[in-house]
Amino acid sequence: MKWMKNAKTYTPPDFAVIRDDERCIRCKACVEQCSFDATFYDEDLDKVWNWEAKCVGCDRCAAICPVEAITIKKRETPYRYNYSWYGHIDGLKKRAAFGGTPVVSMGNDKPYPVYWDHMLLNASQVTNPSIDPLREPMELKTFLGRKPDFVEFKKDGSLKTKLTPQIELNIPIMFSAMSYGALSYNVIESLGKAAQEVGTFYNSGEGGLNKDHYKFKGNVIVQVASGRFGVHKPYLDVGSAIEIKIGQGAKPGIGGHLPGEKVSQTISETRMMPEGSDAISPAPHHDVYSIEDLRQLIYALKEATEYTKPIIVKIAAVHNVAAIASGVVRAGADIISIDGFKGGTGASPQIVRDNIGIPIELALAVVDERLRQEGIRQQVSIIAGGGIRCSTDVVKAIALGADAVYIGTAALLAIGCTMCQQCHTGKCAWGISTQDPHLSKRVNPDIASEKLINLLNVWALEIKEVMGAMGINSIESLKGNRLNLRAVGLSEKDMEILGILPAGE
Ligand code: SF4
Ligand code: SF4
Repeated sequence: MKWMKNAKTYTPPDFAVIRDDERCIRCKACVEQCSFDATFYDEDLDKVWNWEAKCVGCDRCAAICPVEAITIKKRETPYRYNYSWYGHIDGLKKRAAFGGTPVVSMGNDKPYPVYWDHMLLNASQVTNPSIDPLREPMELKTFLGRKPDFVEFKKDGSLKTKLTPQIELNIPIMFSAMSYGALSYNVIESLGKAAQEVGTFYNSGEGGLNKDHYKFKGNVIVQVASGRFGVHKPYLDVGSAIEIKIGQGAKPGIGGHLPGEKVSQTISETRMMPEGSDAISPAPHHDVYSIEDLRQLIYALKEATEYTKPIIVKIAAVHNVAAIASGVVRAGADIISIDGFKGGTGASPQIVRDNIGIPIELALAVVDERLRQEGIRQQVSIIAGGGIRCSTDVVKAIALGADAVYIGTAALLAIGCTMCQQCHTGKCAWGISTQDPHLSKRVNPDIASEKLINLLNVWALEIKEVMGAMGINSIESLKGNRLNLRAVGLSEKDMEILGILPAGE
């Protein structure tokens, strides 16, 4: 035996690794592939062992085992069931053992209601006939940016109204902000390739843009966050739109932290900071303490890019999100991105991820409604993100008032992520959220981009199918069309906030 429990810090393992010793051919692939050191080979006994306390349930070993000898199972808590304490005992013991607050990654996994699953879509019957998307044209193209209240034409028929810059999406789905640093080089490469192929955008996140990825100009949104990592004129020029990150759904009200271990030489060059030092993004932008300050930053970025790009302001879904959004529009933003509390993160204190913010469905509904009431909805496009899991979530989000959506977790799942929530460790066994060159090679950008393209294309087909059933042939006609949504199992108040009727009415 080459391991021994540390009685002082021991907490019961979350997973059981069941290995069929009869089947195992001792190829040691699982030993080589486990980046969490949870598997090892004992030469004396000619046996492969597991240290279950280290297993994170990433499933890499089971996927890689050539003879299907491994099964990973969630272990039940060994403690006597107690309704009040269930889910708190391990967390309490970990804090006591390690003396720190647990850091986690990916999205909030607590059993809060998922409102998407309580909304059903309409279908045409008899009148307003349905549309067959295979035989009739369906338009998924959408434009994001400030729209004029009306347009004027010259005598020769050409447009007199000067339009503000827009970005054009072939489908109303983009890849959300995920930085180079949080994600490996190959993943960024895959996102860029897929966005280019499909005709949509990926978002650089707050980590700047590696020079190699300037080739994705035309399909990249660049982010300006509080840390201002890697922000300079050529960076802004590469972006088709610039996103000011004020908040993030998974961790509203706090900043970001990329541990020094992940700040490799290329990350340090991209972020313009010393190699090996922690990249700390403060909670607030140190020049933004009011809507007026935000306006200054928006117009500074517009000036710097000669008014050629729309400016996105990303906010987290929080309690007074509608009022905040109204202020953001009045500050001059062309697009608002609202990030719900189910959104992912590369690293966040667990208490923040699991307890702060509100669901995107409610936030989106109130923002759209408030901007309509104030007569300023046309002045801004809305992107909804943080919890979009499938094509019908996209349809429901657009019917609730979004112009487009951001997907992050869904994109990572498509290329191999198993949601083990260990992104913050930098040891991602699937090569996704890591800067370890050995692990990063596990993502092949050609294969990963193909999977992302497949996902987006299939979702596009499904969206057309659903829209066709509703008798709607364009995304424009679906936007804010809440009459096509009905609630099941929601309270009167929920329905009032969502602005939808109960099923049956
Ligand atoms: S990968 Fe499978 S066959 Fe190879 S050592 Fe591990 S359990 Fe045995
Ligand atoms: S990206 Fe990697 S570490 Fe993060 S949840 Fe997915 S598989 Fe786990």
